[in-house]
Amino acid sequence: MNNSKFRKYAHELVDWMADYFEEVEEYPVKPDVQPGDILQQLPNSAPEQSESFDSIFEDFNDTIIPGMTHWESPNFMGYFPANKSYPSVLAEMLTATLGAQCMSWLTSPAATELEEQVMVWLRKLIGMPESFTGVIQGTASTSTLCALLMAREQITDFEVNETGFPSDEQFTVYCSAETHSSIEKDVKIAGFGRRHLRKIPVDKNFAMQPKKLEQAIRSDLEDGYSPTAVVATVGTTGSTAIDPLQAIGEICTKYDVFLHVDAAYAGTALILPENRWMNEGIEHADSFVFNPHKWMFTNFDCSAFYVQDEALLVRTFEIMPEYLKTPEDQRVKNYRDWGIPLGRRFRALKLWFVLRSFGVEGLQEKIRHHISLAQNLKDKIQQHNHFEMLAPVPLNTLCFRFHPNYIDDEEKLDELNEKLLNTIQKSGELFLTHTKLGGSYTIRMVLGNTNVTETHMKKAWKLITEKANQLL
Ligand code: PLP
Repeated sequence: MNNSKFRKYAHELVDWMADYFEEVEEYPVKPDVQPGDILQQLPNSAPEQSESFDSIFEDFNDTIIPGMTHWESPNFMGYFPANKSYPSVLAEMLTATLGAQCMSWLTSPAATELEEQVMVWLRKLIGMPESFTGVIQGTASTSTLCALLMAREQITDFEVNETGFPSDEQFTVYCSAETHSSIEKDVKIAGFGRRHLRKIPVDKNFAMQPKKLEQAIRSDLEDGYSPTAVVATVGTTGSTAIDPLQAIGEICTKYDVFLHVDAAYAGTALILPENRWMNEGIEHADSFVFNPHKWMFTNFDCSAFYVQDEALLVRTFEIMPEYLKTPEDQRVKNYRDWGIPLGRRFRALKLWFVLRSFGVEGLQEKIRHHISLAQNLKDKIQQHNHFEMLAPVPLNTLCFRFHPNYIDDEEKLDELNEKLLNTIQKSGELFLTHTKLGGSYTIRMVLGNTNVTETHMKKAWKLITEKANQLL
């Protein structure tokens, strides 16, 4: 492809993109495909000869698009959103075009310095203390892994980095029974061993019980373990439960345990001053993560990772091969030493575009709107004779189930709700997901898509109640 063809096709693609944003609701949210349907349409090997862009794009439309789940659709209300916005997509186009590899200050000074500054903007935006310094990672899973590796090096005084785990010591990590599965994965990768992860019981609101945490730490100390890190969650994946940071933080300070806060989804809600209660006690934390790529209109991937002790983070990851040394090393941030990969995308650009395009007030307005839609729907669910809420709704995630009052059997209720969810998914009109809360099959619905409106919320509720009635 030459430059004039690139120009021509890029213009065509921009038209396609604008149409997609306008027409995304016309696609079934979930594609009607079976495993292998797409694979069997793809040739076994790459073509020997160059193919025209027209034919590649035709296949994109005919083969790929019919197999896509449309996360951009306002009828996508499953998992947590991976929402985005026009300015973010435009920034991604520029990022791809520049193709900069932002591992060191020298490899792109503007990318490094923009990242430093947008992380300050973001810290102020969510009301985090000034003592935290931020860096962009790819995902919350990676950010939490970085936190656990920092905790590991802190407690062993960098012995693991130098010589590996001491054979006579057992390090323990704590999280709640509702913590995201990435913590377990990170514990495995960081070498703690899964059997050294303590899952602390939750209260009736699915938040960690600090007393039980303290009991677990004390019991481990008595048994000769070394409590190393606690991961508290602000906004659990199941129901956006908020672990009590103040109480957990005091325990961590008392026993000198590293505290990491996972606010992957709910961190965005801290943009609203009325939600800052969720972060009370954050000054006790050693690190904190939230994902603008979930709810803050910034394309995946963009995970904001904050630490109190920048030197600990850098010492945990720093490497200095000859070929990467630069004259400015003592005066600049080399973000390759702030995380796991060497190579880094220019992610700060999309965050900068988003923050400037929306402005603080624009972001607040959108987030408030999403929360108010969910609160409104919560009232409707509570008023319905045959539905019940299964968890509090601090933000915009609703956990509920269909519960006709003549069915008491928990197994039957689980089956009924699973059937209801499958029927909704099949319709292609709405995408919801499920979890289990307190052992019960729970339908989850998140009103966080960039363009979700009251109309979508009402339409979704109508569909849910209609499909439920049909099951009776
Ligand atoms: N933590 C929480 C609370 C989450 O809800 C999720 C994903 O939904 C994650 C961590 C993992 O996020 P990521 O995909 O960025 O690793």
